[in-house]
Amino acid sequence: MFLIYADAVQLTRTLFYIRGEPKRHAMQHFPIFMAVAGRRIVLSGGGDAALAKLRLLLKTEANVTVFAADPAPEIQTWAQQDRLTLHPRGMEPGDAMCAVLFYAANEDATEDARVADIAHRDGARVNIVDNLSDSQFITPAIVDRDPVVVAIGTEGAAPVLARAIKRDLEEKLPAQLGTLARIGKTFRRAVEVLPFGKARRDFWAEYYFDHGPKSLELGEDAVIPALEDHLANTLNKSEEVGHVDLVGAGPGDPDLLTLKARKALDKADVVIHDRLVPHTILELARREATIIDAGKTGFGPSTPQGDIDALIVEHARAGAHVVRLKAGDATVFGRLDEELDAIAAAGVSYTIIPGITAASAAVATIGQSLTKRGRNSAVRLITGHDTKGYADQDWRALATPGEVAAIYMGRTAARYIQGRLTMHGADPATPVTIVEHASQPGQRIHTATLGTLSDTMAGVTGPALTLYGLAPRAALDAVETLPLQEVAQ
Ligand code: SAH
Repeated sequence: MFLIYADAVQLTRTLFYIRGEPKRHAMQHFPIFMAVAGRRIVLSGGGDAALAKLRLLLKTEANVTVFAADPAPEIQTWAQQDRLTLHPRGMEPGDAMCAVLFYAANEDATEDARVADIAHRDGARVNIVDNLSDSQFITPAIVDRDPVVVAIGTEGAAPVLARAIKRDLEEKLPAQLGTLARIGKTFRRAVEVLPFGKARRDFWAEYYFDHGPKSLELGEDAVIPALEDHLANTLNKSEEVGHVDLVGAGPGDPDLLTLKARKALDKADVVIHDRLVPHTILELARREATIIDAGKTGFGPSTPQGDIDALIVEHARAGAHVVRLKAGDATVFGRLDEELDAIAAAGVSYTIIPGITAASAAVATIGQSLTKRGRNSAVRLITGHDTKGYADQDWRALATPGEVAAIYMGRTAARYIQGRLTMHGADPATPVTIVEHASQPGQRIHTATLGTLSDTMAGVTGPALTLYGLAPRAALDAVETLPLQEVAQ
């Protein structure tokens, strides 16, 4: 129930403000819904506190037993109607035998302590009305829209607040919600013709808050025909088109995601991700989202680009909010344009959300800049490979002293790159740093020179970014302590 969820978020905030500190806290009570049909619940007391609890308990299918020497007239009536069993006397040992729950509601601390002790010995879970510290469980404020039940608890801290929230929810949730939910349940299968995700959610939202209540005014028999009409209209409606966010997931550390990326993941119906995106980031997607690994599973070792394009378009056409999640920045060696062409050709709207590219993450680990005044006024982002094999580059320009390049996908091409640059006159002593798993738990920095590049690369197994022309800052400091004369030579 999305509406309830939205309210819950607000409630949590309200509670945080009341506590005066917006931080996470551990629950002292764990909310559960307990099976009580046909089980025994015992209550001791016959006054107002007992009546308040009994009104709730009589909504259940439990066998309720009351012990009260002086029971209020309502309790006697309920007993005559067989809605509960009444023993007009005080409690004695054994009276709470086999009870799942026990309420001490005598409004008298001494008597409550005595009966609670009996109930404990009889093996029941005990609640003492208005005595939080001696109670084993507490009863929440309840909004009952059977079969939808909302339980509100404040850990005993603010019953007034719980009641205010209950009133608020009662106003928000139409009284017929229960009836609508019961009828809706019988129609769930039929709605499976709609695509999973947004289309189905929208269908049910309109049912609960618009078509449903309207048709119910004509009587319960009018609801199913109204649902059938609503479904037919939804299917006929010009196909609802979704949206695609092409999101840069950054180098792997979830903290390096942009806020926009987080928001997109929060809204996603479908997430289609690359092999390089770690699960710690995928876990941030909306819980109901379908996660599709376009890097491997189901498609063999590497999914053909055409299949990925088709997958994105298929889900968006079905009305889904698709997040295409790519490592680093989607615009850097991400085959973004092919996906954009497919999305645009399908008439689907899209947004590109930038991410931190591997070069930025890698260079940050070695305390260097990608560009530096007096050293290099340009930096090249190059790839070791392209679709045709090892990628050709302007090797002559790169071989010039002071050049810097960030080399993506440079692992298997290391020997080739080393050979090309050396052949074009690059100094074998040119510093090279390989950053493996940048920003991720297995991060490693390998320092090398152009002359040792391929040997060093042999020890690298994870995703790695090669920084050509850059050494880690600490090593540079050592160089700079040499007499200037020597550095210049
Ligand atoms: N769009 C991505 C690059 C995709 S190409 C980006 O902007 O970063 C894949 C290559 O990126 C890998 O072969 C590797 O060279 C590099 N890469 C991606 N993530 C990396 C990481 N966490 N550490 C080092 N290199 C990484």
